[in-house]
Amino acid sequence: MKHRIVVLGAGYAGAVVAGRLAKRLHRDDVEITLVNGDPEFVERVRMHQLASGQDLRPRPLRDIFAGTGVRVRIAWVTAVDVEGKTVDLGGETLAYDTLVYALGSVNADHGVPGAAEHAYNVAGKQAALRLRARLSEVRPGGTVLIVGGGLTGIETATEIAEARPDLKVAIAARERVGGWLSDKAQRHLRRAFDRLGITVHDDVDVTRVEADGVVTGAGGKIEAQVTVWTAGFTVRPIAAATTLEVTDTGRIVVDAGMRSVSHPDVYAVGDAAFAMGAGGKPLRMACATANPMAWLAADVIAARLTGRKAPETTIGYALQCVSIGRRDGIIQRVTPDDQVTPTVFTGRTAARIKEMICAGAAWGISHPTMLRPSRRRRLAVAGAAETRSLTRS
Ligand SMILES: Cc1cc2nc3c(=O)[nH]c(=O)nc-3n(C[C@H](O)[C@H](O)[C@H](O)COP(=O)(O)OP(=O)(O)OC[C@H]3O[C@@H](n4cnc5c(N)ncnc54)[C@H](O)[C@@H]3O)c2cc1C
Repeated sequence: MKHRIVVLGAGYAGAVVAGRLAKRLHRDDVEITLVNGDPEFVERVRMHQLASGQDLRPRPLRDIFAGTGVRVRIAWVTAVDVEGKTVDLGGETLAYDTLVYALGSVNADHGVPGAAEHAYNVAGKQAALRLRARLSEVRPGGTVLIVGGGLTGIETATEIAEARPDLKVAIAARERVGGWLSDKAQRHLRRAFDRLGITVHDDVDVTRVEADGVVTGAGGKIEAQVTVWTAGFTVRPIAAATTLEVTDTGRIVVDAGMRSVSHPDVYAVGDAAFAMGAGGKPLRMACATANPMAWLAADVIAARLTGRKAPETTIGYALQCVSIGRRDGIIQRVTPDDQVTPTVFTGRTAARIKEMICAGAAWGISHPTMLRPSRRRRLAVAGAAETRSLTRS
């Protein structure tokens, strides 16, 4: 019997783990199943582009993984039993020997009244398509408010303003919008907001979302026909419903090799995992961290199964890349523990770098067997029972 590896989620993290494991391990020894609800790989980092009217290239998972040895299963995971080592796919049960949990994240409205009913978001494909449809109904002169001054809020506001110069776009945040960026980057961002006609509301606490705008902590109101909520991400409740050790927000706590600290047969990567990075700081939810987490997890799993030393590395940052529409951007150099430095690239050069990074991430996922490493190794112990006990140790 083969060792059964089940990867849940085919986003930036899960798809990379599955492809890399297929290159690392011999097909005669392992059966790799990649489970994803959406039949396509969704470029989540482009959801603001999708929402503002751009079409994204379809990337069917079955085509991507054809011939790789990875079995793609299109289904929604409803529960995981980490004691019985099974996954529930809404009635059907899938058994595993090693599980990789990579179910990503969703929009977090932080319980702000009215946000769930009245606000749109760009956290996933269906949400972005709903916003796209709504924006197409808004007539010239209409008002759009983006709540959230982080990367996603800035990218969404600028993308909509560039695509729809006929609309009045505003952005509001509890702190200064983009306030964590270096001085030079912030100056560039403010000029870009001016150029695109975006009204900025800094230091505004949104306490309620209504059909025609938001109410602020100071008792004021910002009118908007469309409110877009970009004030954070949270994880799905599936992991928290298991006996896995999770944080109070439901992210799976993993060690330096992306392995669950409570269940050694389970690994977690991407937004769903709580892992430490450089400087002993938790890695933030990002495509920039999902990829290296996935490489590391795949290499650790392959090393353990083939009896080799697991690699040891600390994940650190190099850049923060912010798109400002399609022709402008900010590439902010950061330290490995994510502190901004004075080094910044802006303008078209930055837009090109950001585009190359996004396209590169999607290319890597779409060509799972093209990238190194290519040498497939046999499991350390042939035979199912021995292999399974080996991975439990
Ligand atoms: C608009 C936007 C812009 C962004 N820009 C950047 C950026 O510039 N740089 C950056 O580093 N990060 C960016 N991010 C964040 C980045 O997209 C996420 O951190 C990244 O996608 C996390 O990867 P992941 O694989 O963990 O999750 P995801 O990419 O979300 O993948 C999770 C997968 O699991 C599937 N899934 C979920 N639940 C289930 C279930 N129950 N059953 C079956 N399948 C399921 C989903 O369909 C999805 O395919 C951006 C995010 C957004 C929304």
